[in-house]
Amino acid sequence: MSQLSKHFSLAELTHTDHREFDNTPNEAELENLKRLAQFLEEVKALLGGRPVMVNSAFRSKLVNDAVGSRDTSQHRLGTAVDIRVPELTPDQVVQTIIASGLAYDQIIREFDRWTHISIPNTPEAAPRRQALIIDKSGTRPYA
Ligand SMILES: [Zn+2]
Repeated sequence: MSQLSKHFSLAELTHTDHREFDNTPNEAELENLKRLAQFLEEVKALLGGRPVMVNSAFRSKLVNDAVGSRDTSQHRLGTAVDIRVPELTPDQVVQTIIASGLAYDQIIREFDRWTHISIPNTPEAAPRRQALIIDKSGTRPYA
């Protein structure tokens, strides 16, 4: 049981329903997952310490292909995570994070069911702080 941070484990951040595929991160991807776990600690603290459930974080090429995601997805690098906070709506999560000034790279309210959050792909890169909505109508800026 390898912990990446106080509340988030490697098992959680590499979980996939596609257990037929290897989803083991390489060294660089693991370093990204450690940064991502630290970021999730900030998110959790911001949300009053509420439970933050991870749907999907790191995806190997095989897993990413299996879920129909693009190769350019930050999930491939271990710098993106899809979360649910059972006590809050996705919109409350998005609004709280945007208002906080946390150094997110991209935040997306997806189908009003979960929140995709990413950190910059390298520690040196500046966060884009881009906020979007994706749903059945398409992709648009969060407003
Ligand atoms: Zn995502």
